[in-house]
Formats: sequence, structure tokens, C-alpha cells
Amino acid sequence: MWACPKCHSVTEASEGREPWSEDWRCQNCGAGIEYRDGVACLAPEMIDSLSGFDPQFFDILVKYEETSFWFVNRAALITALLARYFPHAAELLEIGCGTGSVLMAIRKAMPRVNLTGSELHPSGLIYARERLADGATLLQMDARDIIARSQFDVIGAFDVLEHIAEDEAVMRQMHVALKPSGGVIVSVPQHRWLWSPADDVAFHERRYPRGEMERKLEAAGFRILHSTSFNSLLLPLMIASRQMMILRERRGIKRDALSEFQMSGWLNRVLSSVLRIEVGLTKAGIHWPVGGSRVVVAQKA
Ligand SMILES: [Zn+2]
Repeated sequence: MWACPKCHSVTEASEGREPWSEDWRCQNCGAGIEYRDGVACLAPEMIDSLSGFDPQFFDILVKYEETSFWFVNRAALITALLARYFPHAAELLEIGCGTGSVLMAIRKAMPRVNLTGSELHPSGLIYARERLADGATLLQMDARDIIARSQFDVIGAFDVLEHIAEDEAVMRQMHVALKPSGGVIVSVPQHRWLWSPADDVAFHERRYPRGEMERKLEAAGFRILHSTSFNSLLLPLMIASRQMMILRERRGIKRDALSEFQMSGWLNRVLSSVLRIEVGLTKAGIHWPVGGSRVVVAQKA
């Protein structure tokens, strides 16, 4: 079920993949849904804001997502966790789906899942729609106001919550939007001591100390099924890279958030092989104590 984006009264979804038709009107308050370029905009007042992300990033991100060691292996881990913990999922929402690269990986791994992707900035959704064609419902939405009720089996947020000041409010919203046995898969940047100019330029509100994501999810009504670090084997390289960024910034050299993805093909292949081994070991049951990211799977308690 979906609620009215204006008055939050619960309404039945219209027939078909899109929750609303273009001529939908709320029976309670009369509000309609604003469509831009064929995308339902549930928080149109937020479209032009720069809160939490610079939408120009999407143009650069889209170049790296399909080949970069980090994106490719993060997607492999996400799809493995999805298949293990939610093998019967029928409805999945990814908040902050950006250009749709994770949704594409999920569609490939679990083609029967109905996919919905939301993004605050519709500029990412233009890429997502090109990549996914009719394979996903795409919405412009503020994650702090997920207006679905008991709608999804799984909600994913992959490197999204660290951009949002009210991360706990988002987790409570996810809880309401999930079906009774539904759950979440969340990845976030880990360890405060890894903070660097890369976090500033990416508009991160925080990196998560060990245990914080689990505590916040439990407070929002979830029970933890799986928690591990990601990007553990390459952590020494990441520390070195971030230290270089700090030194460069002290020397007044302009920072570039995506410099870590700009590398030669052979180096990317080497790093990807290492991360592929790590993901394989995670799938085999290893829980990594430290790493650049934390990945948590949790179910509605
Ligand atoms: Zn209404």
C-alpha cells in the first residue's frame, strides 16, 4: 500500500507497476502527483536542493559503476546477501538508487523480483531508466518520507544513509514500508578514523563507528541477521590513499572525490581480484572486523 505524499492517508496502489497514474487524486486531500519526464515526484520541492549529494556526481559515477573494482564487488556482495537472506523476495525498494547500477545487478541475479528505485535527485533516475528500461518503477522521493506501508519484502540503502542527517528517521520509515517479515540490506562507510577529504567532498554526514549501524537498526525495530565489514583486504591501501588526500589538501591541492576510481585497467583488475576473494570468503561465512564499509542485513523484529 502507498500513502498520499501530501496528507499521508493510505490509498490503494493503482493497477500496474506504477503506484499512481498521472491523473491520480488523493480522495482525502485532493492532491495529485507531479510527474517530470515520466517520473512520479513525491518530494518535488526537494529536486533542486543539493542536500546530501551533488547530482553532477551521477555523470561521473555512471562511468565507473560497471567496471570499478569497488562497485562491481559491492554489487556482488549485495546480491549474494539478498539471495541468502531473502530468497523469496517479491518486492524490493532501493532508496538512493542513483543511476540504477545495483538494481541492474539485482535484476540479473534475481530476475523475478519487482524492483522499485527511489532517488532524491531525478538526474540519476534518467540513467536508471535508460539502463533498466521498464524493468523497475522509479520514483523521486525523500527517503525521510517513504510513503509506502507494508509494501516491500526488502529495502536496500547502499552508501546512502551517511548522506542523511536524520538516518534513524529513515530506518524507522523503512520499518513501516516493509511487510511483516521484511528486512533491509544496508551499506555505509565505516570507522570515524578513516574520515578524509573524500568524505567532505561526498557530502557525508558521518562514517559509522563499529556497532553504530546495528544499534540504530535495533532501535528502529530490526533484528540483526548479518553484519560484516566490506573492503577489508584493501583497507591498508585505502588508509594510504586517504592519508595522501589529507596531505594533498594541506598543500592546497584541489580535492577530487572520485580520484580513487581513476586508475589504469590492470590495477583495477588486480584490486577487483582481491575484493572478489574477500566477497567469496564473506559468502563462506567470514565476518570481517575492520574495513572501509559496514554491510548489515536486518529483519523486522
Ligand atoms: Zn492526500
